[in-house]
Amino acid sequence: MTDPRDNPFRTLASAAPPKRAADLVMPVSEEDRIREELESSILFTTVESVVNWARANAIWPLGFGLACCAIEMMAIAGPRFDVSRFGAEVFRGSPRQADLMIVAGRVSIKMAPVLRQLYDQMPDPKWVIAMGACSSCGGVFNNYAILQGVDKIVPVDVYVPGCPPRPEGLIHGIMKLQEKILVSKIELGPFPRKKKRKAGV
Ligand code: SF4
Repeated sequence: MTDPRDNPFRTLASAAPPKRAADLVMPVSEEDRIREELESSILFTTVESVVNWARANAIWPLGFGLACCAIEMMAIAGPRFDVSRFGAEVFRGSPRQADLMIVAGRVSIKMAPVLRQLYDQMPDPKWVIAMGACSSCGGVFNNYAILQGVDKIVPVDVYVPGCPPRPEGLIHGIMKLQEKILVSKIELGPFPRKKKRKAGV
């Protein structure tokens, strides 16, 4: 026979059975209750970890491509590769809203100043991925018209090899960039103030 106190369908008509000694809990003090509450709802971390976590998981790339590699870059945003799993699917039309420049394709000498201007218009912090052989070192185009590596005009964070690299390769590059961001140092605090000039100087 089952214990009537264990019956979950007991109605009000049937009187509540007396509590067992094991069910009686000792009243907890105010201090213990506060400690319990704090332990379950407060998380300790550092500002640097939170900022880096947010930056690494919301990298918005600039939406532009230079040659054939750009087709593979476009594929990462589709449902097959789904780069939104890594928070990097929001391709921006304006450099002012972009964190990441993916240089997808060969950079011609004529295009180089335009690319540099776009990079300068991106707000800090910003990152660059050289996608494919052409943007990394000029690829097979060893001639006067093609820049022999985009790192001659902008600082590159990650190089993705291949001609063209597959979308998985680019996603791997983005993951490497995330690792780099997660361990980077951030600058905190107010902007440095200008020193006051002494009178008569
Ligand atoms: S690396 Fe290959 S696929 Fe990419 S732009 Fe150069 S030639 Fe085209």
